[in-house]
Amino acid sequence: MATIKAIEAQSVHQIQSGQVIVDLCSVAKELVENSLDAGATTIEVRFKNNGLDLIEVQDNGSGISPDNYENIGANPCARNSALKHYTSKLSSYDDLSRLHTFGFRGEALSSLCALANFHIVTAQANQAPRANKLDFESSGKLQKTQIVAGQKGTTASVEGIFKRLPVRRRELEKNIKREYGKVLNLLHAYACISAGVRFSVKNTVGKTKNVVVFSTNANRTTRENIANVYGAKTLSALIPLDLKLEFEPSASMKRAGGGNKSNQMVVQGHISRPVFGEGRQTPDRQMFFVNSRPCGLPQIAKAFNEAYKSFNVSQSPFIFADFQMDTDAYDVNVSPDKRQILIHDAAALIESLKTSLVQLFETADQTVPQSQV
Ligand code: ADP
Ligand code: MG
Repeated sequence: MATIKAIEAQSVHQIQSGQVIVDLCSVAKELVENSLDAGATTIEVRFKNNGLDLIEVQDNGSGISPDNYENIGANPCARNSALKHYTSKLSSYDDLSRLHTFGFRGEALSSLCALANFHIVTAQANQAPRANKLDFESSGKLQKTQIVAGQKGTTASVEGIFKRLPVRRRELEKNIKREYGKVLNLLHAYACISAGVRFSVKNTVGKTKNVVVFSTNANRTTRENIANVYGAKTLSALIPLDLKLEFEPSASMKRAGGGNKSNQMVVQGHISRPVFGEGRQTPDRQMFFVNSRPCGLPQIAKAFNEAYKSFNVSQSPFIFADFQMDTDAYDVNVSPDKRQILIHDAAALIESLKTSLVQLFETADQTVPQSQV
């Protein structure tokens, strides 16, 4: 019979990393969220060969303090001393319900070290125009620090993603077109929600270098961002979403100690005008956010589509909907890649949402706009 024995730390790190970074979208998501957490107002995402060779995110955020260089790639397994995750954003479980940053577990960069060639160039304001280039070993250990030229901010570069997980690498190579399409959709969502941030996305395929895929202009509003990404014609076919939802907590929430306090939340964004008749007015894109965090909300998407269908059967709507709610009304800590969000009172929320949407569509101007904005 085989003996039960401990797995080597480096193998554990690799296995766990593959759960944090599951695909190309995870890479882009983690790097862009770090840039937003660092207060960046300019973010450039660069792909080479649709991301297979390189995914690089450059920002003009705070930069990383030299005191933290050693800790960036640190992970629970590479260190024998203690089970510690290194993040500058959270230090205890209680902090989690008050959290306003995207990241908090200190896992992403350490995972990228395990799965790809990873390096960073970073400078704080007082260091520019000198920056530090940091190279990491696959264990997450800082391998080398080198002084290079660089402005305030951080550039994180991921080369050859999944090269240490050959099966996943082959899968990615096979489906790269589809995976790249998914990343662009995700980046559209970040670019549209991030008012005040100039986003640009570039790709180099073969000899065509740095082709701008899309960009936004550091606009003050999500409306203008949507116009930059999806075009003025799309914008002109949208009406504002501005709903205030209030609903009683469900019996199970009360039993779970949630109290009797009624839930309040605001839904802001834009949705296709509920025009009657044929003809596609808007692209078939649906983006959902919780407190500006892009996420999939399948049940909520279903509620939107059902409500819309009773006004327009010929197309599904363009939806851009940000649910703003107390940070203790949901849990982002459901899966290692943080893509799932668990809203504690989803059923009651959905009922209230459906009623509000029907009211909105009933009162909305249903004529097709003639002019473009
Ligand atoms: P988390 O975001 O969960 O804290 P990460 O592994 O994504 O963990 O990042 C580790 C730490 O590195 C962050 O807490 C932050 O201090 C620093 N960091 C990462 N990316 C950036 C960036 N673009 N700008 C400034 N600091 C960064
Ligand atoms: Mg992070």
